[in-house]
Amino acid sequence: MTRLALIAHDEEKPEMIDLVRTYEDLLATFDLVGTGTTGQRITDETSLTVERKKSGPVGGDLMIGAETAENRLDGVIFLRDPLTAQPHEPDISALLRICDVHDTPLATTRSSAEFLLQGLARRTTE
Ligand code: PGA
Repeated sequence: MTRLALIAHDEEKPEMIDLVRTYEDLLATFDLVGTGTTGQRITDETSLTVERKKSGPVGGDLMIGAETAENRLDGVIFLRDPLTAQPHEPDISALLRICDVHDTPLATTRSSAEFLLQGLARRTTE
């Protein structure tokens, strides 16, 4: 089963909810994992089930990075807020780096996330 990680900074959480609602039928066929607050909001506001890691600032990004290092993830959608400094920036950089190391597809904006989802959908049906 396709396993996808979902993470959004606070300013981007409304965008993440809108995105997952748009792709809800597709995402229902995926195994979803997310950081704590993002995962909670998706679970509360959609019909989807998300395996929740710790909240980002207390290690959630690193937990998703660990799954990436084990090649357990088919993709990561990480809607980042590029305009606000994040206290856990080193953890975020580590996650981005490990996605590059393992060639795990990573989308950090709405439009790239849509391309990623469409690619995963195509792979699922091929
Ligand atoms: P959160 O973490 O979903 O727990 O808010 C996201 C992040 O800031 O990395």
